[in-house]
Formats: sequence, structure tokens, C-alpha cells
Amino acid sequence: MKKTDFDLIVIGGGATGAGIALDASLRGLSVALFEQNDFGQGTSSRSTKLVHGGVRYLEAAVKRLNKAQYALVKEGLRERKYFLHNASHLAHPIALITPLYKWYEIPYIYAGLFLYDLISGKASLGKSRLLSASKAKAVNPSINPSGLKAAVSYYDGTFNDSRMVIALLQSAQEQGAELYNHHQVTSLLKKENALCGVLAQNKINGAKHRYNAKSIINATGPFADTIRALDDPSSPPIMQVSSGIHIVVAKKFLPMNVGLMIPQTSDDRVLFVLPYRDQCLIGTSDQPASLHEHPVATAQEITYLLENVNSYFDIHLSHKDILASFAGLRPLLLQAGTDTAQFVREHTELISDSGLLTVAGGKWTSYRSMAEQAVDIIAKKLGNSRKCQTTDHKIIGSQQGKKYSIQALQRRQISPKRISYLYSLYGDRSIRVLEVCDETPAGHNRVHPSLETTYGELYYSLRYEYVQKPLDFITRRINIGLTDTRTSQEVLKTICDIMERELHWSKAQRNTLEKEAIKLC
Ligand SMILES: Cc1cc2nc3c(=O)[nH]c(=O)nc-3n(C[C@H](O)[C@H](O)[C@H](O)COP(=O)(O)OP(=O)(O)OC[C@H]3O[C@@H](n4cnc5c(N)ncnc54)[C@H](O)[C@@H]3O)c2cc1C
Repeated sequence: MKKTDFDLIVIGGGATGAGIALDASLRGLSVALFEQNDFGQGTSSRSTKLVHGGVRYLEAAVKRLNKAQYALVKEGLRERKYFLHNASHLAHPIALITPLYKWYEIPYIYAGLFLYDLISGKASLGKSRLLSASKAKAVNPSINPSGLKAAVSYYDGTFNDSRMVIALLQSAQEQGAELYNHHQVTSLLKKENALCGVLAQNKINGAKHRYNAKSIINATGPFADTIRALDDPSSPPIMQVSSGIHIVVAKKFLPMNVGLMIPQTSDDRVLFVLPYRDQCLIGTSDQPASLHEHPVATAQEITYLLENVNSYFDIHLSHKDILASFAGLRPLLLQAGTDTAQFVREHTELISDSGLLTVAGGKWTSYRSMAEQAVDIIAKKLGNSRKCQTTDHKIIGSQQGKKYSIQALQRRQISPKRISYLYSLYGDRSIRVLEVCDETPAGHNRVHPSLETTYGELYYSLRYEYVQKPLDFITRRINIGLTDTRTSQEVLKTICDIMERELHWSKAQRNTLEKEAIKLC
């Protein structure tokens, strides 16, 4: 029998909800978390994958003497340190370079990065440097050389966002949290006007159940107002979402392992071109948008990215070079004005009359500190005096350290490429993954000739990573869905064959789930 009474119910299984579930369970609270789709399927798997203070936010802080922007940069740089330390198999430093085509940009941008290093203090990942035009071309041969004056290089963090959500949730589960994937909270329950539980519907089989809790946190990102309206239909909106898209192209367009930061697009934004898995990730845009469970990149947004990136490269990228594209909705706090790109990425904690705590806004980098502030409020309410432990709690996959994990994999006599692939997804759990490959039919066979992924990983993810639908695995566990649409479609049928058998799907259920996956692929 599953438990139905908890200290805390968390609605939303993205970065914010997963961070809260881990923090609260580490403090000894009994926690249940509900996610209406797959864990991380919302904004948290559609980010630029940077762990950063935000160079652009720093510019805004200095130019407009904006204290809030400055505080955000400081928070981001502090959190970057914890992030990289506690999730070392999923997050690592990355060098970024910015090509400069105007002389006056050199002192301006270099001074900005110097300040970025200064604020980082002991959390600095390496010093920013000025590069000559020829050095910049050597570091990244694809940079457009015409009129190139110099470049600057600096460091930030990069990470695997969808796998980070899973590792955080596994870590929360290790502390006793109960996790409900594909469960939508449809009503909030009250006793004498105070919240006492939720009604949640299993979206796979339609079953509805009641779960009771002493406290409830709304961590639904862009959907925060929807849950606030379930609590009190008259509550005023606090969110404004904006859409940001990415496109993925072959690695040959960015042959080096450094990223590129383009400081000024045609609409005064920054654009990143980053190595991601075996491909190259380009993003992002910023357009006011409406709420959608499955946002997609529009042709107009894709053209915007192509045009901007082409002006900085010695190549011509066109629509036919795109391997995949994806869109995400930024959960921005409502602010004055209409230019969402200028909105401060602040976060807030709001308590309603019935006791619903809404945690909204922020960015991936600050998920831990958002969770800490939210759980502090709940712990106080519940009389729990345990302090937050997440600043140095290594999450699942990072607990044994890289050296130990790699040595254990080397003893299995597999290729260095496979070792690096397994470690980058599963960290110290890679050995368990290989054991599952040993135990399962064709477990060591690849799911596709162009991929390192083996069938054993699907069995592993069904047992340990909460996979219930084909794209949970293809898109958010092995990341192919977000990086290569055609290959995703090619592996779909075999993945569905195994899942149908393992999850005892009926033929009708399989058809529905396969069709849904084809549509969303
Ligand atoms: C294009 C883009 C690029 C970005 N890049 C970066 C970056 O590089 N670095 C960075 O630090 N930040 C970045 N961000 C910001 C960052 O991704 C978000 O701030 C963060 O992912 C938000 O997490 P969240 O958990 O609050 O929201 P979400 O990830 O959206 O999670 C909320 C979840 O709640 C679920 N939910 C909603 N209603 C219900 C319900 N009734 N029942 C159950 N579940 C429900 C949703 O399905 C969703 O999964 C980027 C954002 C965008 C859009």
C-alpha cells in the first residue's frame, strides 16, 4: 500500500519541485511530488543548459544600476559552485568565447568579464582572457574572420538539464520521498478554508486518488497561476511566460569544445552556440507566449536564430542543417513593460490565505537556493528545526566521484568512448546500468547504429528512472529527442516493442502512446 498522508506535497516535477523534494526530505519531512507529464518535461529540459550568473544580467545591473539584477548575478555565481560540486557527473565548466568586431567593444566587454570574475571570487572557474583575432580563429575555426578585431574568453558551467531533474528526484527518493510521474493535480482539498490535500489523476490509466498533506507547494513554473486559481479563482496573475527556442546542428559547425557567446543579436539579446552531447546547440529567442504543455519552435523563431548565428560564422546554416529544435516557456514574474527579454529573472515565494506556498520565477542555476527558501518557510510552519543540507549534498550519480567510477568502468573492459558516454549520463550508477545490460535480452546491443545507447539502458530506465512513455526515455533520459529528430523516429518502434512487453500495455494503449510520441518527436 502506498502512503497517502504526508508532511509536504510538491506540485510540479521540474527543477524547482525536484530541488524542494530533495531539500525537504533531507530535513526529515515526508514528501510526495506530483508531475503531470514526465519529470522535467516542462521548461527544465528545454534550457540552454548553462549554470551561470548571467553575463547579460550583469551588464543590465551596471548599465541601469539595477540592484535586483546584481543580486541575481551574485546568487547565480554562488549557486554555480554548489551545482558543479554536487552534480559533477552532469555539470562541468565550459570555456566560452565572444568574437569582437568593433574596437570599442574590446575594453567594454573585457571590463564586464573582469567584473564577472571579481564577483565570482573563490567560486571563479578560471580567469577571463583577451584573445587576438588569430588565436580566436584557432580556438574556433568557424568564426567569421571578416573584420574580426579580437575575442574574449571566459568560463561558466554547462549541464545536462533533463538528467539533472532525474538525479535530484532519485536523491529525494533515496531520502524517502514518494514520486508520481504522469500524475496531474486536478483539485486542491480544503478543511475549514485551510489546504489539507490534493486530488491527483494518473494520466496513464485515468485513476484518481486523494493525498493528504500538512503543507502544499506549488512549483509548477509557467503553470503557477493555474494552480493558484485552483486554490482561489480570484487570485491575480503573477506570471508572464515567454518562449525561448533552440536548434541543434551537427558538431562540424562547432568543431571545438568551447562555446560561443554572441553578445548582441538584432534584437539586443545574447545568443549561445554550445557543444552539447555530440552536437551543437544554438539558442535562444525570447517572445511573449501563451501557456502550452507542448510548446514548439515556430518557423519565424528558427529563422531568427539562423540569421543571427550566420552573421558570426564563416559558414551558412540553413533550415536543412537543423537536426532538431525545441521550445521552452520561461516562468517569468509579471513585471512592467512588454519586452520579456529585459525582465529580471527574480524568484518569489508567496503564501495564499489557505496556506498554498507558490515558488515561482528564477532560473535553473538558482533551483537549490529557491528550494532552500521555500523549505525554510514550510519547516518553520511544521516546527521542524533542521537546517538545509543541500549545499554539500552530492546527488545520485556523483556520490562516488569521477575517478572511482571511471576505474570501475575500465575494469569492465569497454571502450573509452562507451565509458565516457555512460559516465556522462549515469555517473557512478554506470556499473549498475552495465549489470542491467548483462541481465536483459540483447542488453548490450545498440538501439541504433549511430548511438552509444544500448537496450539495457531502456530496461534500467524502466526500473530506476521512472520511464512510462517512449519519449520519457528517448528525449529526457538519453536526450536523443532533443538533439536528433530523425534518429528518434527511427528508434521509436523498437523502444515501443520493449515497453509494450515490459509495461504490459494493451495493443490499443501501445498504438495511442506510439502515435503520441510520433506527434511530439
Ligand atoms: C529557452 C530557455 C532557456 C533557459 N536557459 C537557462 C539556462 O541556460 N540556465 C538557467 O539557469 N536557466 C535557464 N532557463 C530557465 C530555467 O529553465 C527555468 O527557470 C527552470 O527550468 C524552471 O523550472 P520549474 O521547475 O520552475 O518549471 P518547469 O520545469 O516548467 O516545471 C514545472 C512542472 O510543473 C508541472 N505541472 C504543471 N501543472 C501541474 C499539475 N496540475 N499537476 C502536476 N504537475 C504540474 C509541469 O508539467 C512542469 O513539468 C531557461 C529557460 C528557457 C525557457
